[in-house]
Amino acid sequence: LNYQANPDRYKQINYNRTGKSGVLLPAISLGLWHNFGFVDSLQNGREILRTAFDLGITHFDLANNYGPPYGSAEENFGTILKNDFKSYRDELFIATKAGYDMWPGPYGNLGSRKYLVASLDQSLKRMGLDYVDIFYHHRPDPDTPLEETMVALADIVRQGKALYVGISNYKPTETAEAAKLLKELKVPFILHQARYSMFDRWVENGLLDTLEDNGVGCIAFSPLAQGMLTDKYLHGIPENSRAAKNLTYLQKDTVNSNIEKIQKLNEIAQNRNQKLSEMAIAWILRQKQVASVLIGASSSAQLKTNIKALNNLNFTEDELKQIDAITIP
Ligand code: NDP
Repeated sequence: LNYQANPDRYKQINYNRTGKSGVLLPAISLGLWHNFGFVDSLQNGREILRTAFDLGITHFDLANNYGPPYGSAEENFGTILKNDFKSYRDELFIATKAGYDMWPGPYGNLGSRKYLVASLDQSLKRMGLDYVDIFYHHRPDPDTPLEETMVALADIVRQGKALYVGISNYKPTETAEAAKLLKELKVPFILHQARYSMFDRWVENGLLDTLEDNGVGCIAFSPLAQGMLTDKYLHGIPENSRAAKNLTYLQKDTVNSNIEKIQKLNEIAQNRNQKLSEMAIAWILRQKQVASVLIGASSSAQLKTNIKALNNLNFTEDELKQIDAITIP
């Protein structure tokens, strides 16, 4: 049966302006790093995407190598788009990226024009799209002149393959240099994608200020510290969790060494009548530069829980102090 989106979808979530651009993003966006590869259930992925869109989540974030195997998240996303979302293309804001390892040899990684242009062409084919809404350089490349990378992004926009550009994992000084070049090139640079959670606060040391100075928005990834800032690990490591899968991204040891902090944070969340995941998301949205919190989900139920974060976005000074005391070493 054809998918019909929830007619009330735009009443479920709020939308924030990204920097000084024309683009509004849902306060919560969905990333396809995990749970959408050929190793995962396509049916589950389809249900997660439908649930997201029904909740008003219009922004889906991909990268060339999401899977595993590499490319398979884009391919599965393309299949689901074709079946379910064809008539909704203009209601969606779709991202992909290049910058990490993708194919063998000297042209399948980092920041050359050669890599970026070829990678986006491959991504578009896999997703069955004519263009993406935003294309990111996924990480800085210390050995390629920044100008080469930025001119490649500019040309991609001029060719109509992306409407906007972004960067990810760039430090404040690198970000300011990129912003200067992209401004000269008159390319709409609207988003910086950065890891940000109660457990990883590096953006607070200069990046958010740099973004503000340049009119660029922040989209925060791994806001739940890959699941640690939820109630998932409160009583051990469940079999079906990311930490149990030994994918190297989230180690069991990391979970175990943080468990006391997690339990203390959970108490604060409970006193706010929130789940820990809801508090973790709300805590990020308190920063005015953050346009959207980019979460992952292995089930549609997780999405439905996490979106409740928006019901309580306010923090008292005391709550913020308690959170700092637990999370700042
Ligand atoms: P999160 O920190 O949101 O972690 C998501 C994981 O947490 C889920 O897959 C699930 O794991 C668990 N979880 C979520 N909600 C709940 C809940 N309510 N209860 C229990 N467990 C829950 O984000 P990710 O690390 O997945 O990153 C999000 C997105 O950010 C990625 O998909 C990607 O698009 C982007 N990203 C970008 C990077 C970059 O370099 N630019 C790097 C990393 C991510 P489980 O499987 O255990 O259920």
